[in-house]
Amino acid sequence: MKTADIRARFLDFFRDRGHTIVPSAPLVPGNDPTLMFTNSGMVQFKNVFLGSEKPGYVRAADVQRCLRAGGKHNDLDSVGYTARHHTFFEMLGNWSFGDYFKREAIGWAWELLTKGFGLPGERLTVTVYETDDEAYGIWKDEIGVPAERIIRIGDNKGAPYASDNFWQMADTGPCGPSSEIFYDHGSHIPGGPPGSPDEDGDRFIEIWNLVFMQFDRQPDGTLLPLPAPCVDTGMGLERLAAILQGVHSNYEIDLFQRLIAAAAKLTGTEDLENKSLRVIADHIRACSFLIVDGVTPSNEGRGYVLRRIIRRAVRHGYMLGMRKPFFYMLVDVLNSEMGGVYPELAESASVVANVLEKEEQRFFLTVERGMGLLGRALSPEVPVMRLLSERLGLPDYGLMLHTSGGLYLDGVFRTEGGAVAVLLMPSSEQSRQALIKTVSNLQSENEGWGEGYRKFLVVKGPWTDADVSRAQALVNAFDIPTEVIEVTEEDLKPYKFLPAETAFSLYDQDGFPIDLTADVCREIGFSVDLEGFEVLMEAQRERARAASRFESKGQLPAELVSRLDPTQFLGYEALTVTDAKV
Ligand code: ATP
Ligand code: MG
Ligand code: MG
Ligand code: MG
Repeated sequence: MKTADIRARFLDFFRDRGHTIVPSAPLVPGNDPTLMFTNSGMVQFKNVFLGSEKPGYVRAADVQRCLRAGGKHNDLDSVGYTARHHTFFEMLGNWSFGDYFKREAIGWAWELLTKGFGLPGERLTVTVYETDDEAYGIWKDEIGVPAERIIRIGDNKGAPYASDNFWQMADTGPCGPSSEIFYDHGSHIPGGPPGSPDEDGDRFIEIWNLVFMQFDRQPDGTLLPLPAPCVDTGMGLERLAAILQGVHSNYEIDLFQRLIAAAAKLTGTEDLENKSLRVIADHIRACSFLIVDGVTPSNEGRGYVLRRIIRRAVRHGYMLGMRKPFFYMLVDVLNSEMGGVYPELAESASVVANVLEKEEQRFFLTVERGMGLLGRALSPEVPVMRLLSERLGLPDYGLMLHTSGGLYLDGVFRTEGGAVAVLLMPSSEQSRQALIKTVSNLQSENEGWGEGYRKFLVVKGPWTDADVSRAQALVNAFDIPTEVIEVTEEDLKPYKFLPAETAFSLYDQDGFPIDLTADVCREIGFSVDLEGFEVLMEAQRERARAASRFESKGQLPAELVSRLDPTQFLGYEALTVTDAKV
């Protein structure tokens, strides 16, 4: 069943049950300045739930475009890592505004999934809030779900609203328990049922969340019953499509496969499961719809989120070998996939492509330098060098090490103690010869051999024995004693980090958003000193404030002013509107 048919079947089902079909609201919420992006279907109905708006219907259904890439909901870091998370996705939803309640919401959800879409009921597991006996009873006695597949989920962090199964709009106001429906993709996929220690795996995938708003939380925390309880549901279109198309990952569904195929063609990538292709396919949707909804790349708030996503897509393109703008070319493909359902995309496709191309152009100018700097700071020998200089003190050694990525000949290095470190690892005869020549020159000129230099060190690490013997054979070409020491992956862990200064320089000089840097690091198991980064950012803001006070009467060129302006750093995780002055 195609994605397009799923949307239609969902809406038909609820239309037949008296629901008014409403259009998707934009990604930028029109009614809520505290919210960065529309992150679920209920956002456009917030005032209806709060009672300040009367829509003229009591049942509604829609397909809402959502973004979870900033603010409270941020799935950006999951993209490319899980089978089920996107930044941009579509949420199918149905609502009752003081009309029907749990019985109908649960009954229809089950009916639509099992009859409408034909999912086998025994693959479905449901959760209810621990004290919600009413929902439990409906699932068990009316729907007939066996007790072992109805899981009560309690509070995880003390407060009731810290539970996956208790929803609340804010610290006070409408709230209530929820019930979620999970699909079991099968025991060949790692992960446990909801509530189990490994629930975050991708075996049991949450498809539909039914929220029962039945309380009004008071400032003192007490829960008063709402006079007219409401229902708010949300189901991920892409997750449902994956099930109905017999695939596990959202990225394997029709819509994504065409985006991925186009990205693969553009970048000349053969492996369609390449993670970078998935990230690019995800990000073209988020970026295009953000621009459609009026956001442009900038250094603040929503525009900064857009910029981060574009730059991340470009970085992945770079990893696939791209050296000039390519991302914007996917807008056409996206338009042919989604322009029919979203005419606003079709109308502004060329504007979107233009904005993207410009931003890409800017970033490609610096990405080369930034990636080079990052590559050096994160190269496999860096942690080994750190470990050795700490553990051994290097002056007695010429250092020969080979790294997991194969053998490199990086030349001859001086360490602080004046010793020579030979980072070796010729993969070819040519580079082997080059190394021999370098070392011989040094020996004969007696240049660069620190006073204390005594021997080569072959570091035996988490790399292959063949590499070690190759290195030793090479060492044997010289009349220098050799010592072998072992370094394990575990030993190296504390030395795998990116210093705050490097992260800051990347941000400041090369326009690498910190989350992009963190993403590159994460891929190879390096940590980033985010606290140190924040300190440097704060110092820069302070300098900028001082500069703008000083210059406030002068006539500075606009471009300079914008650089001096304190750039509000929005944080690696905490992109909230309160910080961001949107
Ligand atoms: P998960 O636990 O898998 O992260 P969630 O509990 O955060 O999902 P909800 O906030 O309950 O999700 O949103 C309702 C539905 O929207 C989910 O059941 C899921 O089908 C879908 N959904 C949520 N987040 C995403 C996402 N990042 N990408 C695609 N679909 C999503
Ligand atoms: Mg989530
Ligand atoms: Mg969840
Ligand atoms: Mg949920």
